[in-house]
Amino acid sequence: MKRTILFLFVLVLLVAGCATPAKRTDTVFQTSTINALLAGIYDGDVTLREVLENGDFGLGTYNHLAGEMILYESQFYQIKPDGSAYRPVLSTKTPYVTVCRFKADETFPTPEGFSMDDVKKFLDHRLPNHNLFYAIKITGVFKTMKTRTIVAQKKPYPPLKEVVKHQIVFHMKEVAGTIVGFRCPEYIKGINVPNYHFHFISKDRKRGGHVLGFTLRKGRCEIDVLNRFLMVLPTGVKEFAKANLSKDQSKALKRVEQK
Ligand SMILES: [Zn+2]
Repeated sequence: MKRTILFLFVLVLLVAGCATPAKRTDTVFQTSTINALLAGIYDGDVTLREVLENGDFGLGTYNHLAGEMILYESQFYQIKPDGSAYRPVLSTKTPYVTVCRFKADETFPTPEGFSMDDVKKFLDHRLPNHNLFYAIKITGVFKTMKTRTIVAQKKPYPPLKEVVKHQIVFHMKEVAGTIVGFRCPEYIKGINVPNYHFHFISKDRKRGGHVLGFTLRKGRCEIDVLNRFLMVLPTGVKEFAKANLSKDQSKALKRVEQK
């Protein structure tokens, strides 16, 4: 009898092993879509605890659009209008995140003095397959770092392009910290942010936000190549059910991301 149980146990392990794809860690996990966020759907039904089951690194925002989110080394940071980074409780919900389990495939120094545009061009060249996803971690000292955060919204929610007109911008100088970001393929438009999307958290974990620009003093870049994509859509959000999410929002997205 004991032997039968052992045999079954080994069989289950073998079957489980076969069914598990080789690199489950190389997965982009996202909730909702960027067009839903642009349309003013600022409440989701996924908790931070659930996000942590799918990643330890990433970016997004919180319900009611209550500040920029950074997920770094399994810790969430919430950048509030005073510019400080807070630690939200794990029962907090999010309308939009993009996360992964970060495991560097490549590490290289980032040339000194590079601006954000220089870094993007540099990475475009270093990451030749533009049809894959990449998680990007840049740790270093920034001569300048310009970030923004957004103020929590009240219903009825205005669209994101209206909200960012009142964004709060921070200018940091000589700040050590980490950029947490992604490069997504162009074809993902409407669902995620094509090309680059960067958030920042300072080394002392006190400041950060959605990155609008920077000048690097010195830095090290780590890349995680991601070839799996998992999207979880809200089922209990009636605004999501009713929204038209197929409109081309490219122009609005550009204004929202880069202003
Ligand atoms: Zn952002």
